[in-house]
Amino acid sequence: MSLTDIQTRISQAEARAERAPGSVHLIAVSKEQPESHVLPILESGHRVFGENRVQEAVGKWPAWQERFGKVELHLLGPLQTNKARQAMALFQVIHSLDRPKLARTLARLAQETGACPQLFIQVNTGAEPQKAGILQPDTDGFIAECRSLDLPVIGLMCIPPVEADPAPHFEQLAAMARRNDLPCLSMGMSDDFETAIAHGATHVRVGSAIFGARG
Ligand SMILES: *Cc1c(COP(=O)(O)O)cnc(C)c1O
Repeated sequence: MSLTDIQTRISQAEARAERAPGSVHLIAVSKEQPESHVLPILESGHRVFGENRVQEAVGKWPAWQERFGKVELHLLGPLQTNKARQAMALFQVIHSLDRPKLARTLARLAQETGACPQLFIQVNTGAEPQKAGILQPDTDGFIAECRSLDLPVIGLMCIPPVEADPAPHFEQLAAMARRNDLPCLSMGMSDDFETAIAHGATHVRVGSAIFGARG
């Protein structure tokens, strides 16, 4: 599907949900995609991309940014504390803040450098053991902890279990964001971004539907 098709579907989903046109940000997830798939999207003028791994992103985006100008980069995958400095230098937004130790590291580096990316707290809404994210009962407390560290938390992010109906997960994430006065919701991927928009997503993360299957 082309980028234009996805943008059209996003606009239609915004309209159906009676949301303002342009209220949903499209993050084109370029992880593991060959250059031949990414360049046409850059050439079309799109400037918001998502990556899963710091190392992979550091290896390819500086050259592309030299050629196409500044791109807004979002880190979507788990972040190890020993990669935090590199991640903060490259990414404008991090979607995977998921534990106190990482929060303290980001806060320390923000103090030191005077800058910090915008942050989403990742919530493991399905309580899946193999998945990153703070568990639901701990979320309100963790948001408060991040705020006490002066971290710029703008919203919540989730990845619903693969086989589950995503709607209840999106609903729960939206409720948690609402009661904590967080304005942004990072939810919805290739297969469910329209459902996510119906439930209030402000940032959808779409990879394979734009670029084709990975690897
Ligand atoms: C890979 C990935 C996506 C994009 O997935 P698609 O199904 O290809 O749209 C979105 N969010 C995260 C966190 C991912 O790892």
